[in-house]
Amino acid sequence: MLGMKVLIINCGSSSIKYELFEMTTESVLAEGVVERIGTDSAIIKLRVTGRDPLVQTSEILDHQVGLSRVLSLLMSREQGVIQSAEEVKAVGHRVVHGGEYFSEAVIIDPKVRQAIRQTIDLAPLHNLPNLLGIDAAQSQLPQAVHVAVFDTAFHQTMPTYAYMYPLPRVLYEKYKIRRYGFHGTSHKYVSQRAAAFLKRPIEELKIISCHIGNGASVAAIRQGKSVDTSMGMTPLEGLMMGTRCGDIDPAIVPYVMAREELTLAEVKSMMNKHSGLLGISGLSEDMRVIEEAAEQGHAQAKLALDMYVYKIRKVIGSYVAAMNGMDVLIFTAGVGENSSLVRERVCKNLTCFGIELDDGQNQLRRKEERRISTSSSKVEVLVIPTNEELMIAREAKKLVEKISL
Ligand code: ADP
Repeated sequence: MLGMKVLIINCGSSSIKYELFEMTTESVLAEGVVERIGTDSAIIKLRVTGRDPLVQTSEILDHQVGLSRVLSLLMSREQGVIQSAEEVKAVGHRVVHGGEYFSEAVIIDPKVRQAIRQTIDLAPLHNLPNLLGIDAAQSQLPQAVHVAVFDTAFHQTMPTYAYMYPLPRVLYEKYKIRRYGFHGTSHKYVSQRAAAFLKRPIEELKIISCHIGNGASVAAIRQGKSVDTSMGMTPLEGLMMGTRCGDIDPAIVPYVMAREELTLAEVKSMMNKHSGLLGISGLSEDMRVIEEAAEQGHAQAKLALDMYVYKIRKVIGSYVAAMNGMDVLIFTAGVGENSSLVRERVCKNLTCFGIELDDGQNQLRRKEERRISTSSSKVEVLVIPTNEELMIAREAKKLVEKISL
């Protein structure tokens, strides 16, 4: 079989997540992660379909070495799934921030690389490791087509009035301070899947998709295009999340900094790592823990859950206003796919929009695309498991096919 193998890479500051697809069947051949890069006890995990998982510990000081170990494993006689690096036709790189440069996936050339570099200021924690991954993969898989898929790209269709902040205009002109939105690959994937599930053209639909995991965002999607989303210039804006606060009065920042004598780094850490479900409950950022504690009567866990659900409902309501309607409501990611309680509580007070939840369907525990609204509900409520890696692999395949035409 000829086949088309596409490797997906998602690099963090000390990690490389990878997944190797056979795109003729869209099947996963192998997946895994390298963790604790930069230490003498880095961990490589590999899972090959149908075999026992493999875990190795060794010194891996940078992303170059990390990736070369991954490739050696993928090609090894005992553990491997490919015989040579030449089999990998394309590498899809997850890049978090594409700024205003990218509204779709692109083949990485020196100009694209330069644009990603120029966007580092907007997302230093993400774009810098993403670039390290690109460099490592380009040097080790020089024959492959390298494609960048951006978390922000899908939201580049937002109208100006939705993405501008009401700050002095000069801040936009000088620093490109504006709303970008994230989780774009996921919102795009689940909205396309929803249209396919409903067997309706996406151009006819007003879709609101809730990607709620550790990070969380809602997107308003009209005619298949994002018209608004709850995250902003950074992933801190919008919903209450596991450890992020989401929207707050910006005046709180200087106030708390003065009162608590906090540095910039400390206040950023407070809002990103010690707020949200964790900050309010004092227990955990994990929704499973919050749900269980709330069930047992833990007052702060109950409050955290109430606040979390209330905010999602308010954003959904505002997007009905933004699009003058809603045909489909999607739940996805860790909480959205698994928590029937959060879905129920979000939907319970949205009956004014014509939402009727089918309690039996909502309670089912299945990792598959399904409808959880009743047949008389005016809005189709769906659970669609997200698959950002597959979406990235599809984008990469599309570009490879385009250039080989
Ligand atoms: P990330 O944003 O890191 O990709 P995920 O989308 O994987 O995160 O979501 C992870 C979160 O999903 C966990 O922190 C947990 O709160 C939540 N989650 C997973 N399973 C369940 C469950 N059965 N019930 C409630 N929440 C769950």
